[in-house]
Amino acid sequence: MSQLVPPHHSEQIKSLLLPETERADERKRAETLRKVPLDSRAVSDVFMLAMGAYTPLDGFMAHDDWRGSCLDMKLANGTFWPIPITLPVDQAIADSIHVEEEIALVDAESGDILAVMEVHEKYSIDKELEAEHVYRTVDPKHPGVAKVLAQGAVNLAGRVLVLSEGRFPVQYPDLYIRPAESRAMFLERGWSQVAAFQTRNPMHRSHEHLVKIAVEVTDGVFIHQVLGKLKPGDIPAEVRTRAIQAMIDGYFRPGTVIQAGYPIEMRYAGPREALLHALIRQNFGCSHLIVGRDHAGVGDYYGPFDAQHIFDELWPGALHTRPLKIDVTFYCRKCYGMATAKTCPHDAQDRISISGTEQRQMLSTGADIPPEFSRPEVVAILKEYYASL
Ligand SMILES: [Zn+2]
Repeated sequence: MSQLVPPHHSEQIKSLLLPETERADERKRAETLRKVPLDSRAVSDVFMLAMGAYTPLDGFMAHDDWRGSCLDMKLANGTFWPIPITLPVDQAIADSIHVEEEIALVDAESGDILAVMEVHEKYSIDKELEAEHVYRTVDPKHPGVAKVLAQGAVNLAGRVLVLSEGRFPVQYPDLYIRPAESRAMFLERGWSQVAAFQTRNPMHRSHEHLVKIAVEVTDGVFIHQVLGKLKPGDIPAEVRTRAIQAMIDGYFRPGTVIQAGYPIEMRYAGPREALLHALIRQNFGCSHLIVGRDHAGVGDYYGPFDAQHIFDELWPGALHTRPLKIDVTFYCRKCYGMATAKTCPHDAQDRISISGTEQRQMLSTGADIPPEFSRPEVVAILKEYYASL
């Protein structure tokens, strides 16, 4: 009998999505409530709450949870939580809402009513404190910090009841796997040790190698990609998932990996985000998270292995899911194969490395990408995409 890691500080996965049969009535009621527009990050958080990926949260955080999460990576009740999950609104909207009022949370982009929330608390935050502790920088050029600095002046807290998962289940019927479902899939396969691989890019051989190292030491790997909002210039999810599937079909034994996606929006908080990614994966039933070089980082705000080291600072019991720390991977001409910086004694010029910018350039001009760097089936899909732009 296989045994998965338990959900984070909870007996069960806490999905905040209302059962389908009750949604129509509740939506009618929600239409009568004050509508509060949500930015893309808050929308993504509603979907994460809906599927139970943020177990044990039951809504957007109150002040004490926000502060504890920023300063000590703990909610007020002591539960480990490394990045605050908050709902910011403009001052004028906040002023128009009274505590204990029920409001409808609306996707500002689509206008859809997503959820109902009973406002339990209104509070303003020290944005620099959040930036300093969570992002380790107050630089407004950092994309995650920029969002915090630009967000509304007041946070609303309260329990959330979700009425819609938006476009995701329809757009990604095979990929949109909720934590309760991934757990059932793992159990059905007899997996107990499962590693998650977080990605927001198509997978080249370096990523394939990371996943294969994990396959060697676990029962299987959950290739888990970001379906939420990305940076401009990133490959769209539809193209990326086809490229990843081509790699799985051609280069993995059947039944060793599962491709899936989830609705998170990247915050690019580096080390703190690696911890959040691990916490989320615990809810999905994964015992390990692959943490490579510069996990969830952006620019050079973080040291290449800060996201690995931060796991060593956690207190006992904070998290069940462990990092699978792996050094940078590449093809080495002198090793005649895939290697990591931990095992290969050769120089940088013996290692095949192509930066993201170079790849985009090569793919859009139709230049050859060496098979040591990327599988030809993957390159073909990416070239077709760039040709269509
Ligand atoms: Zn080598």
